[in-house]
Amino acid sequence: MSDINNNKNFLLQQFMWIGISLGISFLISYYVQNPFISIPIIILIFILLSFYMRNRAMRKFGLSGQTMFGANNSVNYYCMSCGTKHNQHSCPRCGSKMKRVGT
Ligand SMILES: [Zn+2]
Repeated sequence: MSDINNNKNFLLQQFMWIGISLGISFLISYYVQNPFISIPIIILIFILLSFYMRNRAMRKFGLSGQTMFGANNSVNYYCMSCGTKHNQHSCPRCGSKMKRVGT
């Protein structure tokens, strides 16, 4: 499996997610006329959706959500607790989810 195909699928999912969230926000602003109620609901749904999509993408590709912006596979991630270099959701050594980007 090449990285190019993975990136293409990942981009497609991002576009799909943008479409879904746009549709949801249109629906909510249509049904909830009061913007003081509809806007917080939309923001909440956006946050939940982005968490869901990020977790799904990470499980599928083993990538961190940060690569979404860089799309650079040469970036390394280091555990913030023990300094182990890893590319997983959580550190394989100590289990910490905190990590920093390095080269
Ligand atoms: Zn660690």
